[in-house]
Amino acid sequence: MNRLVQLFIILLASSQLQADSNIKTAALADFKYLESLYFHLHKNPELSFHEEKTSKRIAKELRKTGFEVTENVGGFGLVGVIKNGPGPVLMIRADMDGLPIEEKTGLDYASKTKVVDDLGKTVSTMHACGHDVHMTVFVGTARRLVEMKDKWSGTLVMIGEPAEERGAGARAMLNDGLYTRFPRPDYALGLHANAVLATGQIGYVEGFALANVDMVDISIPGVGGHGAYPHTTKDPIVLASQIINAAQTLVSREISPLEPAVVTVGSIHGGTKHNIIPDQVDLQLTVRSYSDETRNSLLEGIKRMARAQAQVMGFPADKLPVVKVRDEYTPALYNNPALTKRISQVFTNRFGTERVVEVKPVMGGEDFSEYGRVEPKVPSFFFWLGAVDPELIKTSMKTGKSLPSLHSAYFAPVPEKTILTGVEAMTSAALDLFNN
Ligand code: ZN
Ligand code: ZN
Repeated sequence: MNRLVQLFIILLASSQLQADSNIKTAALADFKYLESLYFHLHKNPELSFHEEKTSKRIAKELRKTGFEVTENVGGFGLVGVIKNGPGPVLMIRADMDGLPIEEKTGLDYASKTKVVDDLGKTVSTMHACGHDVHMTVFVGTARRLVEMKDKWSGTLVMIGEPAEERGAGARAMLNDGLYTRFPRPDYALGLHANAVLATGQIGYVEGFALANVDMVDISIPGVGGHGAYPHTTKDPIVLASQIINAAQTLVSREISPLEPAVVTVGSIHGGTKHNIIPDQVDLQLTVRSYSDETRNSLLEGIKRMARAQAQVMGFPADKLPVVKVRDEYTPALYNNPALTKRISQVFTNRFGTERVVEVKPVMGGEDFSEYGRVEPKVPSFFFWLGAVDPELIKTSMKTGKSLPSLHSAYFAPVPEKTILTGVEAMTSAALDLFNN
């Protein structure tokens, strides 16, 4: 090999090494700043489609570092762009909405915020899904990558997504021209706080990582009457119970045992009193799967079961249940295998095998999946960021008492190590995609 080329490679490698150790030092030096941002976000959660102040704050943070920011993309979504020479377009996403939950963590920076929801009800709000962690890591990553602009070349697109909890924000941003008004990404990265992994750890899944999520409403009309004269009625409560049991056989008898599927009835409402057979019962279901095929079988199966059970019970044709699949559907999240291998290796090199672990897929949902499902597909990778105090994990193993899950009023991520690990991970993943 030519001596000059050798020298160049050595210089490049050593500058890469230096950049690597710089990320950690710089993230640590910046932590006070990020911590105060985190506390602010944590104390001020806004509901889906109402992320006005949160989005303004994140836009301000990006502008301050030198991004060109466009606000109000798909609701309160925001897009920050930095063009830094030739190279790939990388998109990094954070979601921004909180949940209608009253925080019970007892932390001194706990949220006490109350807002009026879409139904006009006053509700407490909490970042019980860790989106405040995501936003803080996002801003930390933006600050690192801008600081290190001489160490990479390409276009960085950073997006703040609204209404993730409604499974609607990603689609809203895409429909508002995310990939046409702004540079279309060659890669997309995202992360989520994890309520069972220890802070400092990273979890990843190759292929399907999170599920198709559908919300289904079943409206069951009946012919009401006196509870003592059931033969003069068509009882929607008995029919509802038949439908609930029948729907379980879809998973156990119609879907391959090797194919993940869930049908859960989470809500049943009907009736007012012991001795009245009501005119109406309403069911709300969550339906989960990975493949499109399983999803369709489940949804079609629920419609078939509901109708057939009513017919078995002799319900008249104008009193059959109406099954409605809501538009707010979140497709399964698929991690591109090549990208997953590549970035998980970057993480392992940086953090070691103890801290970077392959984990099992789950039946939760995340609309980050939307960003990769376009044609042509965008290779995407979404990883888990451990957020739990390791002592709590030990206690939980000893006592058998489960840890507070995401969406729990008690979910309390450990700020410092979680945020620093997130910034280091996301920044190093970005540098690898820009440089190699
Ligand atoms: Zn959530
Ligand atoms: Zn979430």
